[in-house]
Amino acid sequence: MPELPEIFCRAREMNESLRERVITSIEVKQPQCLNVSVEAFEAGLLGSRIDDTHQQGKWLVTDTSQGHLLINLGMGGELLLVERHALPEKWRIRFDFEDGLTLAINFWWFGNVHYVEPGGLANHTMTAKLGPNAMDVTVDEFHALLAGRRGRIKSFLLDQSKIAGIGNAYIHDILFRAGLHPLRSISTLQDQDIDLLHQSIQDEFRRSIAKGAANYELNLLGARGGFGAQDLLVGYREGKSCPVCHALIEKQKTGSTTSYICPQCQAM
Ligand SMILES: [Zn+2]
Repeated sequence: MPELPEIFCRAREMNESLRERVITSIEVKQPQCLNVSVEAFEAGLLGSRIDDTHQQGKWLVTDTSQGHLLINLGMGGELLLVERHALPEKWRIRFDFEDGLTLAINFWWFGNVHYVEPGGLANHTMTAKLGPNAMDVTVDEFHALLAGRRGRIKSFLLDQSKIAGIGNAYIHDILFRAGLHPLRSISTLQDQDIDLLHQSIQDEFRRSIAKGAANYELNLLGARGGFGAQDLLVGYREGKSCPVCHALIEKQKTGSTTSYICPQCQAM
């Protein structure tokens, strides 16, 4: 499932490759992924010029000359910029540009491709209710987000309405870097714990982004990212030794999720 680093990289690639391109035709194979009728979707975006794309949590938000195109890959998928005669085998929706290139979008399971009229983003509830982007939060803002909260730290970090972009793949190493057990109560965190957790989110995501994000996702040009199993510290490494203290990494059920932790570095 794509998380902040993957979406950040796709936004960057879209800015590099799609800006100024004009959408000349649209084909929708899966109307259920739209938020409006196919007719309204086409009327909104046909002839529009692509402007800036940015990442908001797990969403890609593209501004165009006629409103906004919002994409959420759900459990995963591909956004591929290809020559029109070389379309990938599977795609759900495609945007053709005037120069023979096509942006083909595929979802492995289900995703969203939404159109929002100019000035209407505040009314798009799925993105409007997102918390601040995890990488854009300053350390002071992070302290403020956690102040006075009850509950467990892992649940908080995964709640997209509180802070956006962290998901089930990167959470293990983020918590490990901060030396925090997933079930640690927020109310017991010291200031230095919060500082370190903030830094851990930054470090983990920056490291993945520098490598083009996860290697199980393709970039806009069809190449794999460079962040893979060799980059994981404790995540998905049950039974291997902790890179810091060499204790054996454990897989634990933590509430409704599974966690990978070092029992020594992340004691409760
Ligand atoms: Zn350890």
